[in-house]
Amino acid sequence: MKLLVVEDEALLRHHLQTRLSEGGHIVEAVGNADEALYHAGQYHHDLAVIDLGLPGISGLDLIRQLRSDGRTFPILILTARGNWQDKVEGLAAGADDYLVKPFQFEELEARLAALLRRSSGFTQSTIVAGPLSLDLNRKQAALAQSSLALTAYEYRILEYLMRHHQQVVPKDRLMEQLYADDDERDPNVIEVLVGRLRRKLESHAGFKPIETVRGLGYLFNERCH
Ligand code: CA
Repeated sequence: MKLLVVEDEALLRHHLQTRLSEGGHIVEAVGNADEALYHAGQYHHDLAVIDLGLPGISGLDLIRQLRSDGRTFPILILTARGNWQDKVEGLAAGADDYLVKPFQFEELEARLAALLRRSSGFTQSTIVAGPLSLDLNRKQAALAQSSLALTAYEYRILEYLMRHHQQVVPKDRLMEQLYADDDERDPNVIEVLVGRLRRKLESHAGFKPIETVRGLGYLFNERCH
């Protein structure tokens, strides 16, 4: 998933970027609200982690601005210990969850996974579509109860399409899920990856969940639950 991290403490920002990237996310980490608003306007994020104590525009005003700009992704706020007013105001401004500093990275990861799952409308960490199941925690796919070997990129594409099942997903949206840098994005790569993914899924007779919508993108046309 594509995450926006807004944290002015350089060391913590770096730590969040590194650990969340290792967890399989594409992470854009910035140090202030102006940069965050720029990135939010340029790209399509799945979630934001926002420190409330930012220089310049505050974390609270950043959240209000994102929400008034129509950004609906889940937001987790980072707050200082003992400042309960911050949590209340943050949630009232449009945040979905909070974590008090200092925190254990594992707790942050678990909360982000829960927020992402709920924002996709799933109640469990395994998504099922016909014979296909996807374990979001282990990042593994299975087809008709047998493990399905996918590369990291194939897995990311499949997870994104299943999270947005029965919606047309543009190719450039999928590219944002694979590459942090604009320069690396090549639509031909997506076609090749989707082609490989399809062949693996279609090894189950009659199962053709990924459709091409000409000129628009791809559609995972099976109900996921
Ligand atoms: Ca801060």
